[in-house]
Amino acid sequence: MAYKIAVFDAKPYDQDTFEKVNQQFGYELVYHKEHLDKHNVILAGGADAVCIFVNADVDKYVIDKLCEMGVKLIALRCAGFNNVDIAYAAGKIKVVRVPDYSPHAIAEHTLALMLCLNRKVHRAFLRTRDWNFSLNGFLGFDMYEKTVGVIGTGKIGKTVIGVLKGLGMKILAYDLYPDHEFAAKNDIKYATLDEIYTNADVITLHCPLTKETEYMICEDSIAKMKDGVMIINTGRGKLIHTKHLIDGLISRKIGYAGLDVYEEEGAYFYEDCSDSVLTDDVLARLLSFNNVIVTSHQAFFTEEAMSNIANTTMNNVADFFAGKELKNEVVHQAK
Ligand code: NAD
Repeated sequence: MAYKIAVFDAKPYDQDTFEKVNQQFGYELVYHKEHLDKHNVILAGGADAVCIFVNADVDKYVIDKLCEMGVKLIALRCAGFNNVDIAYAAGKIKVVRVPDYSPHAIAEHTLALMLCLNRKVHRAFLRTRDWNFSLNGFLGFDMYEKTVGVIGTGKIGKTVIGVLKGLGMKILAYDLYPDHEFAAKNDIKYATLDEIYTNADVITLHCPLTKETEYMICEDSIAKMKDGVMIINTGRGKLIHTKHLIDGLISRKIGYAGLDVYEEEGAYFYEDCSDSVLTDDVLARLLSFNNVIVTSHQAFFTEEAMSNIANTTMNNVADFFAGKELKNEVVHQAK
């Protein structure tokens, strides 16, 4: 009998790629539109594994319920795992993820946000549609020789650095575990966070969301930044204290914000809410600035990344059921 996998947060594009890849595996895939949380965990009943995405909320209650119903594996089809209580899952249920599916997809989207904001492409698109060909308000700056602070120099941060070096930008990098060999080879400098806040024209976030990084961009750090700084977040929403970001935008301390993620995105992102009233005043305020671009957690969304995600996820599941070593297991690191 085929193993049954409950695939949560499944959109038509997920189903397309998973069905294609599943031809080699033959699992029974049951799709659910909802992202897994305490309200709908019951839908996983009868499944051997659950496959979840970035906005699932797998807390203690959900983990207990999954175990009680006989679910043996949580397969994240993303890199970040901040939405699963890994400490609580340890010893109860295995968790696997897709650590690496296309750093290029996220790096290229990061660049798209930077260039679009700087050169006001989003505004020019609307203006020329209205037969308005004026340039007022569209003055940009050369990225060449400007300083960019890259926070987090893992797979994505390093790819972003490669892309931005192509523009001739000066790189200041920060990572909890600096890769000095990479820095020497690529002629870039590691700096402290404060040095980045003080000197960077553009700051881009590529570290995971952890207790240490939560709200790293807040009133205090923003106060240290250059006037008119550009902040790009394709990491996780809670890296930024959104209300403080809005204060910075109002005071013009922050000149531009490119946000692929938002701290309360779970209620909206990936859904068409165009027929409803937006009740999130913080998101509504963000969307009111013409120097802010919000995209709905889509940096990963390329053909190549989707195909890699489905392949790695299915291989993770297959390894688990075959009792093989789980190379993509998320293991709780006791402090
Ligand atoms: P990675 O594990 O390769 O790199 C993360 C880097 O952050 C590591 O070098 C690590 O040492 C560093 N780090 C850890 N704690 C830190 C801290 N406190 N301060 C500074 N650096 C710290 O991961 P990656 O593949 O480069 O992905 C980075 C993040 O991007 C993920 O955690 C995820 O949240 C996000 N992401 C977003 C999307 C999207 O579609 N927007 C897609 C994939 C990943």
